[in-house]
Amino acid sequence: MQITKLLTDFREELDSIGNHGGMLSSEVCQFICSSLSIDLKTLMIDLLAVAESYSHSPVSDFKVGAIALGDLKSNGYGDLFFGSNLEIQGVSLGNTLHAEQSAVINAWMNGQSTTAIAISEIPCGHCRQFMFELSKAEELPIYLPDSKMSKINRPDLLLSQLLPAAFKPADLQNNNSGLSVDQTEKNTPKLQGDNSDEAVAMALKLASECYAPYTQNLAGCVIITDDDNSYFGKTLENAAYNPSVLAFTVALNQLRLSGRENAFESIARVVLVEAQGKVSQKQATQTLLENCCRQSSFDYHPALI
Ligand SMILES: [Zn+2]
Repeated sequence: MQITKLLTDFREELDSIGNHGGMLSSEVCQFICSSLSIDLKTLMIDLLAVAESYSHSPVSDFKVGAIALGDLKSNGYGDLFFGSNLEIQGVSLGNTLHAEQSAVINAWMNGQSTTAIAISEIPCGHCRQFMFELSKAEELPIYLPDSKMSKINRPDLLLSQLLPAAFKPADLQNNNSGLSVDQTEKNTPKLQGDNSDEAVAMALKLASECYAPYTQNLAGCVIITDDDNSYFGKTLENAAYNPSVLAFTVALNQLRLSGRENAFESIARVVLVEAQGKVSQKQATQTLLENCCRQSSFDYHPALI
């Protein structure tokens, strides 16, 4: 473990992760790896302690960190997307976002695929199912700290080895996709009524780029903070339904990974645009928001496909 050396020698680089929305660029990864003579997998595992520091876990006090490796670049490195568990007090446990979900979402919101993932704990069944939605799930490498790998008793690990005979997108006739950056919705919802508001237009755009192949409940969300910064979210569905993530939760994840102090108390306005099908995110979003930040306004706009 080189975490102490990492934290002292590369303080400035690691402090900038929050300013980049929970991301460390491939160039910085290459610089750190060559300086310490370590490979990218080792760096990802060593940085899990940093990912854990983003955890918001007031219910469990149990911090989990994950780091998704984005698309590989010509230098053989990729950007790293940090993630950690997110719990909201006062709502049901089903609203918890796990660290693996958080990191994969972070890569996806930045327009990148997840090509490998490091996790501080052995992934739970919920996350194995969530990650199986990725278009290259079968070959997704899972990196764990030595102490966790020794329990599994193998030198390396793929997601398909952790979830054999998986229930897959194809089992719901979603044959050509699975979650990938270029295979999100092609439908463009239209607002019911005119609206020239910039945040509403952005939420509408996000709804058109979401991943909702099972219900067509296209939704996009914009969180605006009291200092006028914006954070974005869009629906991410799963073939097994329950690991699906609300557009608002995706936006909350991105806000939390910015590393700002009292992130949830800073929420001033939430805009949700959705094309309802057989399901809706309106009530769940309202409930979550009330428990995150009571003083925020909630702006809901129905749309049609
Ligand atoms: Zn999990």
